[in-house]
Amino acid sequence: MQRSTGEYKIKPIKKRVRELLGYPYPARIPKDVFVEQWVGISRDEFHRAKDADVKYMRNRHPLIDMGWSRSDCIRYLAALGLADTPKSSCLGCPFHGNAQWRHIRNTSPAEWADVVAFDAAIRKGNARANATGNRLLGEAFLHRSRLPLDQAPIDHVTAAEWAALQQQPGASGVDAEELEQGVENGCSPWACRGAETEDVQSDFGLAA
Ligand code: SF4
Repeated sequence: MQRSTGEYKIKPIKKRVRELLGYPYPARIPKDVFVEQWVGISRDEFHRAKDADVKYMRNRHPLIDMGWSRSDCIRYLAALGLADTPKSSCLGCPFHGNAQWRHIRNTSPAEWADVVAFDAAIRKGNARANATGNRLLGEAFLHRSRLPLDQAPIDHVTAAEWAALQQQPGASGVDAEELEQGVENGCSPWACRGAETEDVQSDFGLAA
């Protein structure tokens, strides 16, 4: 997942930022030319706030600067009549719950096709990483059932998933609500939770 975070999220952002600055790769960017990038991480998750790893991008975290928590954000959105605002996330996030997968499938056929194709494409890992000797051991799947996304049980929690939860309640750090709604906390490409621990990767069927 660490590799995919860089490959599929941060790399395209850097490419676009370079284009916006007028210095596409491999042009050298002068020291005083940079973008300021605002990343919406709330006070509750300040540990996710990270600097960019290049000088031409400077990350700012306005919610942390204002001291806003996730609840403050929800209250603010509700006051604007936007209480139903979903949390932002990457389309192909492996931390989606079934509700998020269903929402994509039921409301956006093009995005669903895109994410099903992406899921198939990562099965053997990242081509470049494989070529450079960091071969994926096993297979990667976006859905925790370790089934291809278009065959995964996203309309209900399966008997096997219930049985696993009942045998080891909380052991994997995942409960029934999380199976349905996904991980509650927010993130950003610079704070992708997929890069955090091996445990989380195995919880979510990821080996990449
Ligand atoms: S955890 Fe966040 S940054 Fe990582 S894939 Fe999911 S939505 Fe994207």
